[in-house]
Amino acid sequence: MTGMLRALFPGSFDPPSHGHLNIIHRISSIYDEIDVVVATNPEKQYTFDADERLELMRTLCDPYDNVRVHQWDRLIVEFAEQVGARVMIRGVRALSDFEYEFELSMINKGLNPRIETIFMPTDSKYFVLRSSAIKELARLDGDISRMVPDIVAERLKEKVKRARRTGSD
Ligand code: ADP
Repeated sequence: MTGMLRALFPGSFDPPSHGHLNIIHRISSIYDEIDVVVATNPEKQYTFDADERLELMRTLCDPYDNVRVHQWDRLIVEFAEQVGARVMIRGVRALSDFEYEFELSMINKGLNPRIETIFMPTDSKYFVLRSSAIKELARLDGDISRMVPDIVAERLKEKVKRARRTGSD
C-alpha cells in the first residue's frame, strides 16, 4: 500500500450524471485507486433507492479498472478511516456549491483531521448539471440525453411513467 494514492468520491448519485462521471474519469487517471461511495442517508428522500444507485454506478464505472463502488449509510470519514483513504474528492460547480462544500469540509475535518477534502472544478460542459434539475426535466418530458448516460435516461423515463400510472407525482 505504501505510495498508493487512494481517493474517495462520495455522493448521492440520484441519479448519476455526466458531471459525476466526468469527475470520476479525471480522478481515475490521477489516483491509483478510487472508491466511489454511494451515500444512503435515512433522512433523505431519494428518487432511486440505494440498490438502484449502487447498480447504476457499478455499471457506469465498470470501464475503469481502478474504480470500485460501495454503499455506505454512516459518516463518510468513518468509511475513509476503515479503508485507509486520506483524500476525499468533491466536485464544485458554481460559487454557490463552494459555500456548502467548504462548510462540509470543515465539518469533516473536525470529525477526522487526517482526512483531506480536495475540490475539483466541474468541466464547463457540465456546469449546469444538477440532479434535481435533471429529475424535474425528466418529469416534464424534457430532453435529458446530453445530461445523463443512456441507461440513466431510460430508468428515469420508466420512473416518470410509473409515477404517472399510479398518479403519485
Ligand atoms: P451530494 O448529495 O453528496 O452532494 P451529489 O450526487 O449531488 O451528492 O454529488 C456528488 C458529488 O459530485 C459532489 O461532490 C458534487 O459536487 C459533484 N457533482 C455533482 N454534479 C456535478 C457536476 N455537474 N459537475 C461536477 N461535479 C458534480
